[in-house]
Amino acid sequence: MNTNPLASAQLQVKHACDVLGLEPVVYELLKDPKRVIEISIPVRMDDGSTKVFKGYRSLHNDAVGPGKGGIRFHPGVNMDEVKALSIWMTFKCGVTGIPYGGAKGGITVDPSKLSQGELERLSRGYIQGLHKYLGEKIDIPAPDVGTNGQIMAWMVDEYCKLTGHFAVGMLTGKPVAWGGSLGRSEATGFGVAVTAREAAAKLGIDLKGAKVAVQGFGNVGSYTVKNFIKLGGKVVAVAEWEPKNGTYVIYNEAGFCFEELKDYRTHNGNLLGFPGSQAISLDEFWALDVDVMVPAALEKAIDAKQAEVIKAKLVVEAANGPVTPAGDKVLNQRGITVTPDILSNAGGVTVSYFEWVQNLYGYAWAEAEVKQREEEAMVNAFEAIWKIKKQYKCTMREAAYLVSVKKVAEVMKLRGWY
Ligand code: NAD
Repeated sequence: MNTNPLASAQLQVKHACDVLGLEPVVYELLKDPKRVIEISIPVRMDDGSTKVFKGYRSLHNDAVGPGKGGIRFHPGVNMDEVKALSIWMTFKCGVTGIPYGGAKGGITVDPSKLSQGELERLSRGYIQGLHKYLGEKIDIPAPDVGTNGQIMAWMVDEYCKLTGHFAVGMLTGKPVAWGGSLGRSEATGFGVAVTAREAAAKLGIDLKGAKVAVQGFGNVGSYTVKNFIKLGGKVVAVAEWEPKNGTYVIYNEAGFCFEELKDYRTHNGNLLGFPGSQAISLDEFWALDVDVMVPAALEKAIDAKQAEVIKAKLVVEAANGPVTPAGDKVLNQRGITVTPDILSNAGGVTVSYFEWVQNLYGYAWAEAEVKQREEEAMVNAFEAIWKIKKQYKCTMREAAYLVSVKKVAEVMKLRGWY
């Protein structure tokens, strides 16, 4: 089966259009982005040479509102991946009902190989190439894999200088000291844990003492670990990756402490040899006897092979597109519930929306208020999807697309797009 993320995304949308019996033109409009841009970014390197990087931005759909989606810095970034991620963003925004369309961007680069100066020039170069197509009411980026608050700050600064407008809401995921929202860093992981809590309750899994395995300990994975532990879960395994050794897994039957993991990673740069942990293989990781499995790294982590051995009753997609269509099929056949990415990790974009609202109003909310609003949005989205899942007797992924595609199609119709 094709594991190209664009083909996966199109398949999911097509299925929803068919089940809803929508006019064929709806799928024609939704299967590809409305606009894609590829740019070349020349960057003066520290050694005096000039290197040219490829950058991308895809605006999938802006029927409901301005485009919204992160910027990824990763060697594997390519146009198809960016397009797929932008499609998922449209429907992720639809799931929690925030007034955005879907977009995504990226640069093909390994950011760990650049100096801070080179990274800054590259980030500013991305905005120089694309600023005409970005804006508070046009298309609003955010961080994704390989980018962070500092990179967002450079990008907003560049945008403000180029346009002459103090438009900090043109991008979210900014540092709190400069237009960011309290609660944004933790938002995706917190939302993942809330989704897992709601799903566990429906499935009769007691999260107190439940064993959890998490792939990825970046922004999403680490805060997922933190919030699972807060809910009483026991995170027994973390799979990670680092340039020298590739993927590795740390395991401890007694469960890890979030702060200890975080401190160790800060001091050592990775989790290799974490005290009290045992190293296990990636094959052993997927086959662990756990209650919940959380892929929180990158796309295509769980294909049919991994899906065959997973023992967890619940798979919570914290990354975007971590389960391939073939993997999804196997998990469904084996009766394993999957909470889809466009629901489970929607907490990030929801709080990005809150950040934008605060920027537009020039007002800052307390962290407790942000979290409470996020939790409410996640629980409501979960319930709406669960209801449709029951009604259509389908998977949660199919239900999520039914809910979201219907909303976007309705707005496109109202606007006279078809
Ligand atoms: P990140 O760069 O902070 O973290 C990714 C982590 O995964 C890194 O620690 C990396 O070492 C690890 N990793 C990479 N390949 C791996 C592998 N093969 N096995 C195990 N670990 C591996 O990125 P992030 O922001 O945490 O994003 C993770 C995923 O979540 C992506 O799919 C992203 O699109 C998605 N996502 C992120 C957000 C957000 O708010 N950051 C929101 C929604 C979705």
